Amino acid sequence: MSVRTRADLDALPSYVPGKTVPGAIKLASNEVSAGPLPSVVRAVAEAATAMNRYPDTGCVELVDRLADKLGVPADRIATGSGSVTLCQQLIQATCADGDEVLFPWRSFEAYPLLTHVVGAAQTRVPLTSGHELDLDAMLAAITPRTRLLFVCNPNNPTGTAVRTADLEAFVARVPDDVLVVIDEAYKEFVDDPHVPDGVEFAKTQWEQGRDNVAVLRTFSKAYGLAGLRVGYAVASERVVEALRKVYVPFSVNALAQVAAIASLDAEDELMERCRAIVAERGRVRDELVAAGFEVPPSQANFVWLPLGERTLAFNDHCLAHKVVVRAFAGDGARVTIGEPEENDAFLAAAKAWSAE
Ligand code: PMP
Repeated sequence: MSVRTRADLDALPSYVPGKTVPGAIKLASNEVSAGPLPSVVRAVAEAATAMNRYPDTGCVELVDRLADKLGVPADRIATGSGSVTLCQQLIQATCADGDEVLFPWRSFEAYPLLTHVVGAAQTRVPLTSGHELDLDAMLAAITPRTRLLFVCNPNNPTGTAVRTADLEAFVARVPDDVLVVIDEAYKEFVDDPHVPDGVEFAKTQWEQGRDNVAVLRTFSKAYGLAGLRVGYAVASERVVEALRKVYVPFSVNALAQVAAIASLDAEDELMERCRAIVAERGRVRDELVAAGFEVPPSQANFVWLPLGERTLAFNDHCLAHKVVVRAFAGDGARVTIGEPEENDAFLAAAKAWSAE
């Protein structure tokens, strides 16, 4: 006899993180390449002297700071160990066995894995030929068992973003008992004024009596804290209460909480970094398009190259040039925008490929 684990997990692929290859430039995980700010490192070092104590499980100080910043009551904010954990908690909070989660595909790879692990069914709605979310097809795919749907905005890995008017028309047609989760992991890199700020959008929905819009944000990307794991959800009191029920106690650690607060103190400097990344994104895209690549306009800190069957060969070519990108076999490659010299190294590899 050996231990019995769930048989259905045997066939489930594990989440595949972006690779780190010694000596190569990593543009595979949508991290910010610049290191943490000295003020954040100092705050973490000071807090480390108290790490024999459990963290504040409710993240009260961080939640209060976020409530002030966002202009929402504290009981509409829940924190989590990275927003990926909140994705799982939201599914756990809304779905019993057989209930359905709906999401665009291709999108964030954790959606199908977490949905399966929680025991919910999943519906994947293909993107349009322009690599955008197909909101009409998503509406058409909703069934009486649909409990939650993800709107990844901007979408990982394609970088495309849903505009305010389209989101409004979409949410107006989603049944009230389906939670619309706007995943804004890359929000700080959006520069199209027609793309909504999810929290402001949610507030207008709440004012109209629609409580079924939730927003996910993270400190991993623009705030440069991927290694510490902290994200948050903004949702109705009822959803936040349910999130707290499924929360694993103490899962946002003390150093992550302190670093997130110190990052909010340094927000101006961090947003300046984001603007530099956005400028680089424009340069990288322009040069790729000039070299003959199809590159959908991106609102995130990465670009998408829909290379289809040539994706893995492109990945190997980049690796040979000491650049690690993220390949999705048969579909495309996602390339994070790094520091200018990192982007130059990638562009040199990409141009060598198109010259072949
Ligand atoms: N949502 C999206 C769309 C993402 O791309 C990611 C990270 N790749 C996450 C959520 C999770 O980020 P984290 O758990 O680091 O907050």
